[in-house]
Amino acid sequence: MKSELTELGAQDAKVAQGGVHYWADDETLYRTLLWSRLSSRILLPIVQAKVFSDLDLYSAVVGVNWLDYFDEKVHFFVDFNGTNQEIRHTQFGAMRVKDGIVDYFERHGRARPNVDKEQPDIRIHAYLNRDDVVLSLDFSGYPDCRDVFVKSMNVTLNLAMDYPFEIRTPLMWLDKKETWALADQLGAFDYIRRHTHTCYNGVEGGCGECPSCVLRERGLNAYLREREAKNT
Ligand SMILES: [Zn+2]
Repeated sequence: MKSELTELGAQDAKVAQGGVHYWADDETLYRTLLWSRLSSRILLPIVQAKVFSDLDLYSAVVGVNWLDYFDEKVHFFVDFNGTNQEIRHTQFGAMRVKDGIVDYFERHGRARPNVDKEQPDIRIHAYLNRDDVVLSLDFSGYPDCRDVFVKSMNVTLNLAMDYPFEIRTPLMWLDKKETWALADQLGAFDYIRRHTHTCYNGVEGGCGECPSCVLRERGLNAYLREREAKNT
């Protein structure tokens, strides 16, 4: 996993307990999110604090500048892991974190963001170990894009249907630029450009701002630059 992440541009990757720590700029972060097939979760640590009481936990949460990460329009969910003498139940821990986030927005004159357990836009991951809590943004939203899932699905379907077939995922190992190159090679460049889009904000033609639109545009520009260089 460490070498996979390093190949994707992660810097200073180190194996740590239960995972790999690495440093990445925004672009690299999204790249690891979309293309890492081996990691099951990708977390961005925001704050670390000592928790000797539930007030400590609440204060640590209220002290984070949440508006740097998302605004009041998002639906969020808190995933709390670990307990200690003061935070005896993970549900209680999750509730205090949620209170802190909602109160932060109110203090800044904003509306209260909503909690959504089923389909949150943002997952906050809290990990409490003895007196230390680490809050992270949980970016692991694409488990069904990973190779291990597709392989497992393939086996399951074959067993269920008693008929051998193979799920092929030609884009799995291509980045966005290479995907555009493939579309062009297949003579479908204009069609793909005009008629396909995945926008997290649901804007037809793309919003130009969400991670999906930004990555697509970057890949397209990189490919167009390369194509132009070849043709001149
Ligand atoms: Zn978009």
